[in-house]
Amino acid sequence: MSGFIFSEKPIELVEGDGSYVYDDNGTEYLDMGASYACVPLGHGHDAVQSAVADQLSRLTYVQASYPVEIRTKLYERLAETAPGDIGKVWLCNSGTEANEAALKFARSATGNSKIIATMQGFHGRTMGSLATTWKDKYKKPYEPLIGDVEFVPYNDPEAMREAVDDETAAVIVEPVQGEGGINPASKEFLQTTRVETATSGAALIFDEVQTGMGRTGTLWASEGADVVPDMITSAKGLGNGLPIGATLCRDWIAESYGSHASTFSGGPVISAASHATVSTIVDEEIPAHAAEVGDYLKQELEAELGDATREIRGEGLMIGIEVKRGANRILRDLAIDHQLLALPAGRTVVRLLPPLTITKSEADEVVDALAEVIG
Ligand SMILES: *Cc1c(COP(=O)(O)O)cnc(C)c1O
Repeated sequence: MSGFIFSEKPIELVEGDGSYVYDDNGTEYLDMGASYACVPLGHGHDAVQSAVADQLSRLTYVQASYPVEIRTKLYERLAETAPGDIGKVWLCNSGTEANEAALKFARSATGNSKIIATMQGFHGRTMGSLATTWKDKYKKPYEPLIGDVEFVPYNDPEAMREAVDDETAAVIVEPVQGEGGINPASKEFLQTTRVETATSGAALIFDEVQTGMGRTGTLWASEGADVVPDMITSAKGLGNGLPIGATLCRDWIAESYGSHASTFSGGPVISAASHATVSTIVDEEIPAHAAEVGDYLKQELEAELGDATREIRGEGLMIGIEVKRGANRILRDLAIDHQLLALPAGRTVVRLLPPLTITKSEADEVVDALAEVIG
């Protein structure tokens, strides 16, 4: 595979600044995918850059068995942000590892093995997370994966009620499915899942790798649903572009997590990046901004493109536009003719995951470009 999706002439990006990236010819692109939601504060954010530079010059890495002040501060900051009594934090390097840990913790804490996941869900590409991912195209070449995974239809509370039983270790679910096409969960589905797992003693895992840290208009998407799960997994935007994942746990999970570990868990530099990212998101009330600009963007998209699309859906700045023709062609036209980078979510959904800091006038640019390409 070479270059990014627009394959005739791959775009080589060499610089970034805020919501924009620049290719090797100096052409400016509006990054409406935030490079897969990984730069929620935009490219080259000052507070993150200087925290990283400062830490890099003092201590790049020390094994995780020694306490490091900046990691401790990150643990505290994440625990403060977590809903309800979720207060323990385990750090790793990616989304799939955060889910891998959550699945292991659930098995260890419950003594059960059965995992329930949802149709169309996506949880990563290592063996455990992959087994809970729905689409065969990701799984087939690698089977057999871990056994004992059952899939229920997303947003079907009755099916969830039937699936969860005394032998269930965990239910893993995205509060808004990302790769599956930007499908928000109904409150009823999430609340029923909470009641069923609590009753049977299973762990409820919210995979917030894509929805987390303000993207849906609240710090965690679980807040919007009024549900406190047993674990929340996070990654993508958590280091504003540097690789980090986290599994946030309630005490009963943390108490019997077993002997899981990872060498690079919360190294000093990545902890500095993540601490600056999380602090900025919280202190500057970025989730409220995402909610406001997200509502505005969705309204404008509906007004300008409503008739030319099948559906526009999502929460905050996680928006899917279900189109009538192939999404890849639209993405190509947006990039080549309008210098706007967006993402697919399956073959028929154009996905917008912009930096959470975008302005309304940048949102207007997106609407204008999409109106020309789709409308
Ligand atoms: C991207 C994603 C993952 C996997 O994260 P990686 O960092 O690529 O391993 C897991 N779950 C969800 C919901 C994601 O969007």
